[in-house]
Amino acid sequence: MFYMQSILQIAPTLADFFGVHLNSQVRSIEQILNFAYSRNPKVVVLVVIDSLDFRFYSDFADELGKIHELVERDGLLFECETVSSHTTPAIASILTGLQPDAHGILTSEDVGKSKINSILEILEDEGYKTAAAIETKGAEPLWGRISYVFAVDDREDIIEYDKLIKAHTISVLKKQDLRLMFSHLRAIDRFAHRGEDLSVAAKAVNENVRAIATAVSERNGMLVICGDHETHVKERQASQEKATATVPLIVCCP
Ligand SMILES: [Zn+2]
Repeated sequence: MFYMQSILQIAPTLADFFGVHLNSQVRSIEQILNFAYSRNPKVVVLVVIDSLDFRFYSDFADELGKIHELVERDGLLFECETVSSHTTPAIASILTGLQPDAHGILTSEDVGKSKINSILEILEDEGYKTAAAIETKGAEPLWGRISYVFAVDDREDIIEYDKLIKAHTISVLKKQDLRLMFSHLRAIDRFAHRGEDLSVAAKAVNENVRAIATAVSERNGMLVICGDHETHVKERQASQEKATATVPLIVCCP
């Protein structure tokens, strides 16, 4: 069953689950809270898959077979409205529960200048250990603010980049005190911008999610997967008129 939600609801839902306060006008997603309370996960891993929109999720169902399997076996799937077609403001909205004009993080130059705390920093301030595996520039404001920061330099080989993000995500899951991990996989976005074979990127993402899901399972954790904005594909933009794309939000205990 589908319910239209918003990516703004992810951070408030996580805040409610952990019992911390977050300033957002948006309500949390009750089905996720009920799911989480009934499974009582020891750790939550939030993976943002850059450029994974709802249409891509359906069109590449074969390549993304593991992700579809996580939903079908015992997961929740939501269709979410997005807030921006750009990565930086979208991810800031996912992590704060605020619209871009409220958090003010619109370009990578704004990262670190915002006084608004993300769910990672809010949890740390309440005594929970959190972690992030992200691009080096995005990681800068998190140094000294959260327990475990894994910065990966941007590079030409985006498949290699995602493998490093996956490896850091799996390794930090060995920390028994970790409660929330955030990771950002970028291959689909890069391949889309360059007009490269999207099925290659989708398969790579699927294998990284498979490995992360296994590690989450070993920790009795909960895995949350979402996209950040529509897939930037040239031929699609012409035909898409003005309709805003939606992104999938998946919650499971693998
Ligand atoms: Zn993006």
